[in-house]
Amino acid sequence: EWTGLNELREKYLSFFESKGHLRLQSFSLIPKDDNSLLLINSGMAPMKKYFTGEVTPPRKRVTTCQKCIRTPDIERVGITARHGTYFEMLGNFSFGDYFKHEATAWAWEFCTKVLDMPVDKLWVTIYTDDDEAFEIWTKEVGIDPSRIVRLGKEDNFWEHGSGPCGPCSEIYFDRGEQYGCGSPTCGVGCDCDRYVEFWNVVFSQFNSDGKGNYPPMEHPNIDTGMGLERLACIMQGVDNLFLVDTVQNIMKHICRIAGVKYGDDPKKDISLRVITDHIRSTTFMIGDGVMPSNEGRGYVLRRLLRRAARHGRLLGIDRTFLAEVAQTVIDENKNAYPELDEKRAMITKLIGVEEESFAKTIDQGLQLLSSYIDNSGNKVFSGADAFRLNDTYGFPIDLTKEILAERGMTVDEEEFKRLMLEQRERARAARKNAGADAWEGESDLLENVPETEFLGYGQMEASAKVL
Ligand code: ATP
Ligand code: MG
Ligand code: MG
Ligand code: MG
Repeated sequence: EWTGLNELREKYLSFFESKGHLRLQSFSLIPKDDNSLLLINSGMAPMKKYFTGEVTPPRKRVTTCQKCIRTPDIERVGITARHGTYFEMLGNFSFGDYFKHEATAWAWEFCTKVLDMPVDKLWVTIYTDDDEAFEIWTKEVGIDPSRIVRLGKEDNFWEHGSGPCGPCSEIYFDRGEQYGCGSPTCGVGCDCDRYVEFWNVVFSQFNSDGKGNYPPMEHPNIDTGMGLERLACIMQGVDNLFLVDTVQNIMKHICRIAGVKYGDDPKKDISLRVITDHIRSTTFMIGDGVMPSNEGRGYVLRRLLRRAARHGRLLGIDRTFLAEVAQTVIDENKNAYPELDEKRAMITKLIGVEEESFAKTIDQGLQLLSSYIDNSGNKVFSGADAFRLNDTYGFPIDLTKEILAERGMTVDEEEFKRLMLEQRERARAARKNAGADAWEGESDLLENVPETEFLGYGQMEASAKVL
């Protein structure tokens, strides 16, 4: 049954409220007191301290819809039907309260009773050794044993360093043969877009010491994660995440600006999906206080914006346009995330400034790259040229690498890194030599801007000037 993305979010959260969970707002994309992570990438990430017991949760049962960024998936975005660098993750959590029996039963109830998903399209995976989960899924929940697939550590054991960890069960939806890769071994766990993993139910029952010992925890936890856009994609029967109702409106806006129609040209469709994704992730990142810069989170933001700008060029858009599209991102999300509407002026201004500064040099940079690609028999782009592209034309190294990789070429990264280091040292020496203490303070300030959170418009102007 067709259900809108906003309605699906509400159905999930109120279902788990009816099971005694406390609904919390999404946490910020910027991790708090956690240096192990650049950006929040799952529902459980901002709640780690509730799991370890360092902090007492407001209730033992919590449910959230968490904004997530996963830049490691960037190369898959626009190519697969199911990956974005930005997505929302629905989750229900038990901090030492309920465990496998309830988590599995409720997950199944939500899928088959609340959402009415056809049982013959659903598959469940368990961790190889997890016979307990097998028993529960088949005997208590009542799933046909032939629809349960045992997978190894990579897919079905959740572990990050030491601390709480454990096996998991994932729920997959079979979208049908037309999405299959055609391989005779295609099935659950295949990397194609036919069997889509949409829900991960983690049974965190061990407390690993990081040395291979897994003592069981006295009060095991539950941590689940379901991609809201993936769920909507399934429920709406659309081809990919970017055709989900609210997301599609963003892509349509880009189509209008570019004067292209989605579905006419596979290459342009990739660019449309990439821009749709990147403008979503950057709008939300800025909304949470990330500022463009050359390192850390700010670099991620800058890289996403410039990558989106380049895909705009591939669509034939020869003007700045991302700030306009950000308006649609805000409109489509402001009910669930009112902070976007409150920060609308700041978000669109910052994107506009960043985009304009790149617009001045992007065409020359692209020209330089393509003349090199066309005229040189060399498969390795020199580090010096990559440095010049970065320094003079504002091309993040990842963007240069990506454009070259499209033609089977690489960059001399060693040389690039050496030149970057040299430049940093020169800048440091120059500051010392200048001897003007009055300026020293300011350049230090500007250097630090990247890692700071948004503190007000004053800082934004400061960072805009350095671009
Ligand atoms: P996949 O194997 O498809 O990359 P995953 O196993 O990495 O997914 P989990 O870490 O288990 O994903 O996250 C829980 C859920 O979040 C997934 O089941 C999926 O619904 C959703 N999800 C994960 N990565 C993405 C992404 N890049 N874009 C959209 N949704 C995602
Ligand atoms: Mg993944
Ligand atoms: Mg997976
Ligand atoms: Mg998973």
